[in-house]
Amino acid sequence: MSTVTSLAEQGKTLLNDVFGYPEFRGEQAAIVNHVAAGGDALVLMPTGGGKSLCYQIPALLRPGTAVVVSPLIALMHDQVAALRELGINAAYLNSSLGAAEARAVERAFLAGELKLLYVAPERLLTERFLELLTRACIALFAIDEAHCVSQWGHDFRPEYLGLNVLHERFPRVPRIALTATADALTRQEIVTRLDLATARVFIASFDRPNIRYRIEEKHDGARQLRAFLDEHAGEAGIVYCGSRRKVEAVAASLAAAGLPALPYHAGLAADTRRRHQDRFLREEGLVMVATIAFGMGIDKPDVRFVAHLDLPGSIEGYYQETGRAGRDGLPAEAWMLWGAGDVAAQRRFIDASAAEDGFKRVAHAKLDALLALVETAGCRRQALLAYFGEASPPCGNCDNCLDPPRLWDASEPARKVLSAVYRTGQRFGAGHVIDVLLGRDTDNVRAWGHHNLSVFGIGGELDERRWRSLLRQLLLRGYLATDYAAHGGLKLTAAARPLLRGEQGFMLRETAGHPPRVNPARRAPTRPVAGAEALFERLRAWRRQLANDKGVPAYVILHDSTLRAIADARPANLDALSAVPGIGARKLEAYGAAILEIIAQAGFTPPA
Ligand code: ADP
Ligand code: ZN
Repeated sequence: MSTVTSLAEQGKTLLNDVFGYPEFRGEQAAIVNHVAAGGDALVLMPTGGGKSLCYQIPALLRPGTAVVVSPLIALMHDQVAALRELGINAAYLNSSLGAAEARAVERAFLAGELKLLYVAPERLLTERFLELLTRACIALFAIDEAHCVSQWGHDFRPEYLGLNVLHERFPRVPRIALTATADALTRQEIVTRLDLATARVFIASFDRPNIRYRIEEKHDGARQLRAFLDEHAGEAGIVYCGSRRKVEAVAASLAAAGLPALPYHAGLAADTRRRHQDRFLREEGLVMVATIAFGMGIDKPDVRFVAHLDLPGSIEGYYQETGRAGRDGLPAEAWMLWGAGDVAAQRRFIDASAAEDGFKRVAHAKLDALLALVETAGCRRQALLAYFGEASPPCGNCDNCLDPPRLWDASEPARKVLSAVYRTGQRFGAGHVIDVLLGRDTDNVRAWGHHNLSVFGIGGELDERRWRSLLRQLLLRGYLATDYAAHGGLKLTAAARPLLRGEQGFMLRETAGHPPRVNPARRAPTRPVAGAEALFERLRAWRRQLANDKGVPAYVILHDSTLRAIADARPANLDALSAVPGIGARKLEAYGAAILEIIAQAGFTPPA
C-alpha cells in the first residue's frame, strides 16, 4: 500500500478536520484538485455556492502563502476572522491598517507564516508590493469577484484591469478567478482581461434550491409587507424599495410599529451607512430597508428573506438581490410585490430617458422578461433558470408549484396574436400588433395599410393590458421571438405552428379582476424534534455573548445551520458533537465543552 496520500485525499481530510464538513459540494472537489495541482481555474458559482473553499483548501495544500485579491474591505475582515477561528493563520492588507500594522503583516508574509493573505487590488498593484511578492513563496493567486474586471458591469473596478500583471510576472503560480455573475459576455471579458484563456472553466448550477420564490400582485403594499414580516418575526432580512424616499418611509413605518428596521441608501451620510451595515451584520434579526445600493459583498449567511416592494431592474438584478438570502443553505424566501402601475411607470421612465433607441429597446426587452417571470403560471425557478440557459424540472418550492394559480383558456386570443404578427409581416413590436388587434386608427396603421387586413380590429375581447400580458407570455414560452437584428420586431417561431393550427392550446394565469388569494401557510415545516427550538435559542444566546466578547459577527463563531443541527441531534459527548457539520477540530476544542454543558444544563437529554 502506498504511504503517499493523493492531493484529493488530503483535501478531503482538511475539509473534514479543519472545516468540519463531511462532503465537498458539486464541483468543489474537482476545483480544489485542479488548483492544488497547479492548474489555473475560472469558477462560476452562485452566491452561497461555496467559492471560498475552492481556494482556501488549495492554499493549505500548497507550500507558501495564497494571495487573495478582494475588492471589499468588510468582507476581508470577516473572512480573516473566520479563518482564524478555524486555526488558520491568515491576514489582510488594506487601507484600514495603520503603517505599523501593515509592516507587521508584511514581515509575517515574508517569513512564510501566513497561509492566506487578503489584499486590496490597488495595494497589490503597487511596485512595492509586487517587489515584495518576488521575495515570498506564493501558493496561488485567487481573484475574488472577478467580474469587477468587466467594464460593462455595474461593479467595474479599474484596478482589476491591472491584474494580468500577476500572470506576466509570476507565470508559474496558479491562478483561480471566481465570480457569481453568470452571463456569457462577462465570462468572456474575464477570460480575455485576466489572461485566462487556458484556464479550466468550472460552471456550477445557478439554482438555489433552499430559496422559495413568491411573487404577488400588489393590493395594499403596507399590509402585505406586514403580513409577510409576521411570517419572519425575529429573522434577518432585506426589504428592497425602488427609491430613497420610499426606503425612508417604509423604514420609519416599520420602526414605528416596533420592528427592528434600519434604512440604507446612497443619500445617507457615509458613517450612518457604515453603522447600519455593521449592525445588520453583527446583530441578529434586523430588517434592512434599502435601495440596491445595499448588498454587494454582504456575505452574511443567515439572511432569511429578501423582499422586493418594487420591480427590480431586470432578471439579473432580481437574481443577484434574492441570492443574498439563505447562503447557509437553510430555508429562505424571496418575496416580491408588483403592480401594473409600476410597470407603466417604468416604461415611461425608459421612454423618457435620454438614452439612444437601441438601449431603450434592450431596457424594454429586459422589463418584458421580468414581467414574464412575474406573470407565469408555471414554476418560477424553471423560468428563472431558463433565462440563464439552464433547463430544470418544476421545483416544488415556489408559490406556483405549491399553490398552482387559476388559469384561463387563452388559446383563441393567442392565435389572434400570432396571426396579427404574421399578417403584419413579422417586423413590428408589441405596440403596433396590439393597435391592429384593437382596430386603432394610427399613423402607422394607415401608412402600412394594416386597416385592410383581416386581423384588423378582431381583438375587442381583451383590453390593451391583457393583450400585452399575453404577448409577453407568448415570448416567454417561445412562440414568438424578438428579432434584434431587425429593429426588435416580433416574429413567429417553429413552436407557433401547432398552436396556430389548433393542435395545441394556450393557458394563461388569472391575475387582474380576481380577489387577492389568501396565502396558505408557507412557513418552513416545523421541526419534529421536541425542544429543539428552545435549545437552538439557548445556543444562539450563548453565541451572541461570545461574538460580542470577541467583536466578530455571530456567524464567524458558528453558523445557524450548525446550531440547528446541534439542537436537533443533541450530542451527548465530544465524539458525537464532532460529527455535526460545521464542527471542525478547532471549534470542537474551543467550544465543545461549553456546548455540551448547555445541552446538559438545560436538561435536554439526547433523544432515545
Ligand atoms: P460564496 O462565496 O460562493 O458565496 P461561501 O464560500 O461564502 O459562498 O460559502 C457559502 C456557505 O456554504 C458558507 O457558510 C460555507 O461555510 C458553506 N459551505 C461551503 N462549502 C461547503 C461544504 N462542502 N459543505 C457544507 N457547507 C459548505
Ligand atoms: Zn417551482
